[in-house]
Amino acid sequence: MATFTTRFLGCKVSQTDAREIRERLLADGHLDGAGETDVAVVNTCCVTHEAVRKSRQAARRAARGAERVYVTGCAANLAGGAFADLPANVTVVPLRSERTPAFVAGDVGAIACVRDDARLDRVRAFVKVQDGCSFSCSFCVIPQVRGESRSRPSEALLCEVRRRVEQGHREVVLTGINLGCYRDREARFDLPSLVREAGAVPGLARLRLSSIEVNHLGPALLAAMRETPSVSPHLHVPLQSGDDRILTAMGRRYAAATYLRRVAAAEGFNLTTDVIVGFPGEDEAAFERTLAVVEQAGITKVHVFPYSPRPGTSTAAADTVPPPVKKERGARLRALSAAACARHWRAKVGAADAVLVDRRGRGYGDDYTPWLVEAPVGELVRARAVDVSVEGVVGVAA
Ligand code: SF4
Repeated sequence: MATFTTRFLGCKVSQTDAREIRERLLADGHLDGAGETDVAVVNTCCVTHEAVRKSRQAARRAARGAERVYVTGCAANLAGGAFADLPANVTVVPLRSERTPAFVAGDVGAIACVRDDARLDRVRAFVKVQDGCSFSCSFCVIPQVRGESRSRPSEALLCEVRRRVEQGHREVVLTGINLGCYRDREARFDLPSLVREAGAVPGLARLRLSSIEVNHLGPALLAAMRETPSVSPHLHVPLQSGDDRILTAMGRRYAAATYLRRVAAAEGFNLTTDVIVGFPGEDEAAFERTLAVVEQAGITKVHVFPYSPRPGTSTAAADTVPPPVKKERGARLRALSAAACARHWRAKVGAADAVLVDRRGRGYGDDYTPWLVEAPVGELVRARAVDVSVEGVVGVAA
């Protein structure tokens, strides 16, 4: 029996992949530990140069506290050996996510002591419905490291949602690299049908989507979300840029007007997004169009990513916007986002909401607004907004 830790860097899919490795090790009888352990798993991210640097740092740190370290996930699959100079106790696992848990478990050494109580300590569960991406955005390294889009069978997914609810999770988040590509052709399931079925699982308090490309945000999906009571009225729809010339150069397959039209149909949903600042060729006018689209769309939170060229992508050799300009644009966009966020939160004062408490004193409302409330972790409580702080809406029991 080995003691182990797992950690992840990056997105919810990376978190889900790390959790799958953890559950596989638990199922083999190994023990989740803390501090110095026999094994450490670091599930990495390569979405930016900075993410790779942090992944390498995490692996190096893990190598000091564990006898064996497994480096898995996106950066482990990056061509060019991002982890070439790490200590000898580090094993890089350049495998697809489906094969990684079995490889790590096999290497650690299964001891045939099966535990079936692999309960996650989180209030919400992330259920990965598909992996990979068959799009080819010019800046993105993900299709290289995760491969083409493939979906899990709907029955397995619904089983997992039921299992998570039985384990005590109140909220399930459907995740994927490109969620809207979800298809189970044999069962004739697509994302809208999955939302309806998963959202109807008895005992599930809340279902959310992690992120959806605007091209997949159509009437069928919106209807499924609106007509399923457990579904959270929150949508994370990556914009990346509000300028058509930059969107074309990015290979994003939509224009700014299309984005605005599609999100306008999602009235009543809290809208958040991702934007890349400083993409090659982005001038001041293009950036200002991005600011305008963010405002017009009614976005309440922007995750800002300064452009960073990734190896093997079609823009790998291009980085024309100087770092200080990227920094200044990033700051302006963050300021716009903070103002929109504050307006969104302030509008809630006096109203009540269902808050899922996921940490001491904190939780998320129905539309993924952060709330500060005092209630036991794991509870879904009715709260009334009495104020706003820099961290979220301040609530009291309603
Ligand atoms: S849709 Fe574009 S940005 Fe998203 S994973 Fe696919 S290639 Fe990357």
